[in-house]
Amino acid sequence: MQSWIKASVGFLVILTMTFSRDTSARAQAAHYDLVLKGGHAIDPANRLDGVMDVAVSAGKIAAVAQDIPANQAAKVVNVTGLYVTPGLIDIHFHVGHGGAPLDWFTSEARSHIAPLGILADTALHSGVTTLVDAGTAGADTFVQEKAEVIDHAKVRVLAFLNIVANGMNGGLEQTVNQMDAQRCAETIRRYPDIIVGVKTAHYWTSDPWDAEHTPWAAVDRAEECGRLANVPVMFDFWPRPERTYADLILKKMRPGDIHTHVFAQQFPIVLPNGKINPIMAEARERGVIFDLGHGEGSFWFRNAVPAVQQGFVPDSFSTDLHTGNFNVLSMMEVMSKFLAMGVPLDDTIRRSTVNPAREIHRPDLGTLSVGREADIAVLEELHGHFGYIDCGYARMDGNVKLVARMTVRAGRILYDPSGLSMVEWEKAPPQYFTTPALGNSTRAKADDYPRQ
Ligand SMILES: [Zn+2]
Repeated sequence: MQSWIKASVGFLVILTMTFSRDTSARAQAAHYDLVLKGGHAIDPANRLDGVMDVAVSAGKIAAVAQDIPANQAAKVVNVTGLYVTPGLIDIHFHVGHGGAPLDWFTSEARSHIAPLGILADTALHSGVTTLVDAGTAGADTFVQEKAEVIDHAKVRVLAFLNIVANGMNGGLEQTVNQMDAQRCAETIRRYPDIIVGVKTAHYWTSDPWDAEHTPWAAVDRAEECGRLANVPVMFDFWPRPERTYADLILKKMRPGDIHTHVFAQQFPIVLPNGKINPIMAEARERGVIFDLGHGEGSFWFRNAVPAVQQGFVPDSFSTDLHTGNFNVLSMMEVMSKFLAMGVPLDDTIRRSTVNPAREIHRPDLGTLSVGREADIAVLEELHGHFGYIDCGYARMDGNVKLVARMTVRAGRILYDPSGLSMVEWEKAPPQYFTTPALGNSTRAKADDYPRQ
């Protein structure tokens, strides 16, 4: 008798739990704002790689599952044949003016000192939902960059703070007393949600050393700021006899620090015998991170191809987009080059999502985990004949190319140039076909799904 009661109570508890789970699931399902249906989801953070629907609710990832019923969503987008990945993270990008004088457009100095940053939201065209400004601004100029760009961008913008207080492009990059580790760390502590690390770049690459300009001044001061603020340092570096690359990556850099521009021409990563320099593996064992930082002058197939063939792939891919190269570069181009060199698609996605998220200590980003902000890229892999270029004006031919088809940031479709989410114009609802009355400038749209 006793055991019968226990069993009955147990049965009732299970029944109740099942019932409440069902009703809450239905309630939740009814509130899906958007379902991306039929795509091949790749989410390396969750080891997910297969055909799955992705549902979005209130700006967050609500479900990643097979066959989410279409009638449970306010909006369904058919992404069959496409890849659905976490929104990409480009950790080397430039926004803002970089310390360039505000009267730049009328200044006679404009041919030498120009605003460096490009429109942040252009990154959405490449499936990027988070970008990290790589030291365009320093302690003195960050607030302006924040007010002018970061606070208004639709793409999420984070930043490495330049160790130079004035920033990257105001003409003070070589002034060592501009590199104040205390002020740098204070600024980072003031904006912990935005500033993720320190940046040093372009320091004293060819002039003779003097009392002010000692070989490691910029590196040492950036490291000091990194220690004070407990954040990683990103290095743009030029080796010289008194300041070698081996010393940077084997002695100066701390675990978690990032060397960007790893395939630039100035680094001895491939030895004369064609083998990858063993210091690369040694540095990785120490926890040093290597980032691509393609840029206008930092990507050479003569380094990249032998390195990739021998299994050395940068931990993260990034563009180093700025006003000098925005017309030839994008995250899609960068990732396509690695696909064309033979890096598998899921690994290419990993190095553009979860890896950079970890590098900047933001594990909440670069994943499709349920509950995270719904930052999503929809990508297409094309097959054919494609040419790719490097910074030495050499070409590599490939047979694969990645194209961004749609970008969702915090649940909103912000980029959809081929209309995946839109109705065919002939099937549009009546309001689309109305001609506004004179004096009425309200635009009649085919679709009221919330966009930008
Ligand atoms: Zn850069």
